Amino acid sequence: MDRASGRKRLSVVVSVYNEENALNEFCRQTIPILEKLDWDWELLFVNDGSGDGSREILESLAEQDSRIKVISFSRNFGHEAAMIAGLDYSRGDGIVCMDADLQHPPEYLPEIVKKLEAGFEIVTMVRTSNTSAGWMKNVTSAAFYKLINRISDVHFEPNASDFFAVGRKAADVLKRNYRERVRFLRGYVQNIGFAKTSIEYEAHPRVAGESKYSLAKLLRFSVNTIMCFSNMPLKLGIYAGIFSALIGIIVLVYTLITRQGAPSGYATIVVLICFMFAMLFAVVGIIGEYISVLFNELKDRPIYIVDDIKNFED
Ligand code: UDP
Ligand code: MG
Repeated sequence: MDRASGRKRLSVVVSVYNEENALNEFCRQTIPILEKLDWDWELLFVNDGSGDGSREILESLAEQDSRIKVISFSRNFGHEAAMIAGLDYSRGDGIVCMDADLQHPPEYLPEIVKKLEAGFEIVTMVRTSNTSAGWMKNVTSAAFYKLINRISDVHFEPNASDFFAVGRKAADVLKRNYRERVRFLRGYVQNIGFAKTSIEYEAHPRVAGESKYSLAKLLRFSVNTIMCFSNMPLKLGIYAGIFSALIGIIVLVYTLITRQGAPSGYATIVVLICFMFAMLFAVVGIIGEYISVLFNELKDRPIYIVDDIKNFED
């Protein structure tokens, strides 16, 4: 609550990575909507080490309006880190995270504020259709959510996006207690409890530029999420062991029954050895992935490094 005006404040966190062609249009569409709200507002742009003209554009926007704030990272730390920084620096009673490319329509902001006002701490924005993503991204994303919901004990909303809003209480929990290096913010948002609601929306195509998420980045992201939310892969070793033992018994019985002489059965042995080693290496690899997560947490490096901030006098 703003003491001077007695009005609540909405913080809109926007992560920006090489979006020079989208930023002006973003402000042109978003600010009039913010102005019409009953709440005060602040726009927090987190410049995630953009290499184009995004930083200059943001800084000139910030000069025109002190409610536009800019946090510039020293390099690219990723979308998740940018959202965390936004949560850290926001002072609002409600915080909305959205993309700079207008795929998350600002027209929904009034509805989000209404939900926050009604006392909801978590407002998940559920995508009904994503025309711009292409069928490949849609199919892999659906498969991923099926898998993670099966092997993890928390529930993930399949079409939840990085478009969401949280109240002050939820934001404080997220920024204080969820500072893992390997993280999946929208997973935490859905699993910290509090009063929750969701709003459906239709994702628009990007206004400019192209997606910053390559397929490789998405794959890395999916592996990380599984590591964050499930220990099931670690237990694969036990299943692999049981499976190998069963095969061993079958081959043993078969060998005894057929009474093979010394030279025959060579192929069986080779196949079995290859198979067992493959399984062993796979399990070692999975353990390696978890160790790398542990190692990263242990090093306790910063999630992001700030180079410069604008309009954060208060
Ligand atoms: N983004 C970021 N850091 C990155 C990659 C992306 O801050 O390393 C921002 C990007 O500028 C955009 C949002 O995160 O505002 C979502 O990225 P994008 O639109 O490329 O992903 P998509 O919508 O295609 O999944
Ligand atoms: Mg996008």
